[in-house]
Amino acid sequence: MYILFEGIDTCGKSTQIELLAQVHPGIITTHEPGGTAFGKKAREILLSDSLRSKRAELLLFLADRAEHYEEVIEPNKDKVVISDRGFISGIGYALANGDFSFDELVHLNRFALKEHFPDRIILFLTDMETLRERTSQKSLDGIELRGLEYLLRVQEHMKESILKLGIPHLFIDATDSIENIHQSILTYLKV
Ligand code: C5P
Repeated sequence: MYILFEGIDTCGKSTQIELLAQVHPGIITTHEPGGTAFGKKAREILLSDSLRSKRAELLLFLADRAEHYEEVIEPNKDKVVISDRGFISGIGYALANGDFSFDELVHLNRFALKEHFPDRIILFLTDMETLRERTSQKSLDGIELRGLEYLLRVQEHMKESILKLGIPHLFIDATDSIENIHQSILTYLKV
């Protein structure tokens, strides 16, 4: 089973994945961008913000995703695989940047994932107040410095995309306590 944890920066998804992995050591955890040897190189380029072409940037995210799918997700399809980010980040950020349409992005992501969208998605939803508080405590990569309103727009696009695609999902209130969120996730995943 391929489970995607999604949400904008500082929403707490990585903390929850770590907690889940402690409770269930059999779970395989991975992430995008950068979940493979090639992906690590791609991530370095993507986070350095050095590409002039938006298409080149998108294709590099998609190349990372395609390699990640074939190297990590597909060979482990009989196990529980949890990925910290995936194609919903891909669609959410790209829509907020305004460079591509939803249909284009869905088509390209289907291709990268060999038509296999995740079985379930857990999306962490935060608010302006919490975002402001948490981002002031954390040093952020250059890519995030586009502003908090921007991040909330990404979040909205993530949510709408999951609903439009009809993928089974859980929307989590990311402002809740770590323990409450952990319990909601355990209940939803029944692991
Ligand atoms: O969560 P993680 O640290 O792996 O995210 C790396 C950075 O890449 C984050 O700043 C996130 O905002 C950005 N990102 C992006 N577009 C994506 C995926 C991640 O801008 N499709």
